[in-house]
Amino acid sequence: MASNTYDAVIIGAGIVGAACAVECAREGLSVAIVEAGIIGGGATAAGMGHLVVMDDSEAQFALTRYSQQLWHQISDELPREVEHEACGTIWIAVDDEEMAEVKRKEKFYSDRGVRVEVLDAQSLAEAEPNLRLGLLGGLRVPGDSVIYPPCAAQFFVDQAVARGAGLFVGQAVETITADGVRLRDGTSISAGVIVNSAGSWSPLLTPGVDVKKRKGHLVITDRYPNFLRHQLVELGYLKSAHSLTAESVAFNIQPRKTGQLLIGSSRQFGVDDTNVDTKIVTRMLDRAIEYLPALGKLSSLRTWTGFRAATPDKLPLIGPHAEHRRLYLATGHEGLGITTSTGTAKLLVAQIMNRQAAIPIAPYLPSRMTQELAHA
Ligand SMILES: Cc1cc2nc3c(=O)[nH]c(=O)nc-3n(C[C@H](O)[C@H](O)[C@H](O)COP(=O)(O)OP(=O)(O)OC[C@H]3O[C@@H](n4cnc5c(N)ncnc54)[C@H](O)[C@@H]3O)c2cc1C
Repeated sequence: MASNTYDAVIIGAGIVGAACAVECAREGLSVAIVEAGIIGGGATAAGMGHLVVMDDSEAQFALTRYSQQLWHQISDELPREVEHEACGTIWIAVDDEEMAEVKRKEKFYSDRGVRVEVLDAQSLAEAEPNLRLGLLGGLRVPGDSVIYPPCAAQFFVDQAVARGAGLFVGQAVETITADGVRLRDGTSISAGVIVNSAGSWSPLLTPGVDVKKRKGHLVITDRYPNFLRHQLVELGYLKSAHSLTAESVAFNIQPRKTGQLLIGSSRQFGVDDTNVDTKIVTRMLDRAIEYLPALGKLSSLRTWTGFRAATPDKLPLIGPHAEHRRLYLATGHEGLGITTSTGTAKLLVAQIMNRQAAIPIAPYLPSRMTQELAHA
């Protein structure tokens, strides 16, 4: 393109920016994608890729459910390297309290049209023979699935480029200006709409955006086909994900299409370095072995860390910035941004095009934060 003028400039080609780019391009907007590093190389490369319907709040449910339906719609188009696997989730109960939570979740999901199945101890053992004996049961959610997120981000970017999007990879946005962005090499890009989808880096470009880094660790094993059939998550995971201050660890394991097992996960606030913390990894693995004793005999290949972009109310920020007329935010997706990227893109574009979205947008609007401050 001779002139650097576009309808929309998307900052960051993680899965959220990539999904927003393709959705804008589908609307016929001319799009520029600016990525400082590599496509899908931020939190998107660090995440587990569990496409999961969650029920912490009605708003979280609405966005995860809607997004999962959008993933289902495109599942046949996803290239092989996205490794989409319809393995379902089992939420595991170790005691009566967690079994009560299974029943609560069953009602919540069924009332809202999500297919779920309560497993007793025996059917849980049949579903996952490597689980230890003595577990009480679980909740199977067959519609959940997994993908390999960096390739999904690349797929979205390729689709946007096929619709004419301009790609500025390896070029960082230095500043968001009144009418676009200025890159670190001095290039200016003008655009009617600027989308800050820079994940945990978004506050650096838009000061005041209330997003904090929440560090996580993951471990991947060698290939052990058939060791596991579902993504397994302990119900205690919810306590870990809910805690806003503590350093926490919970059992969460995913079978990859390659036969590898992806083991998570930890959550830490206030730790900005990317170092692997062996104490945390040991706690994580010990927890996993409590559920799957045979895991202790398997070999791990790699351990890494990444940063979730966390907001105070655990919902993403999707919509116009309070003060900058052209700026939209699509950030703050914490531990659900792979899942909710598709829904985020639709909600963002509905706002840009001034159309009604498929689900109510109010819970995700950035303005809710400023309203909360005003009422505090
Ligand atoms: C351990 C862990 C496990 C997770 N598991 C899951 C899961 O199972 N399911 C799920 O749904 N989610 C999961 N998540 C969350 C998910 O990974 C994130 O929510 C999601 O990847 C966020 O995508 P994003 O595009 O917003 O951010 P990112 O992927 O971080 O992308 C932001 C991009 O912006 C770029 N950027 C930054 N600054 C600039 C700049 N100045 N100029 C240009 N580009 C810039 C970065 O280079 C980066 O590529 C997990 C996260 C972690 C850490």
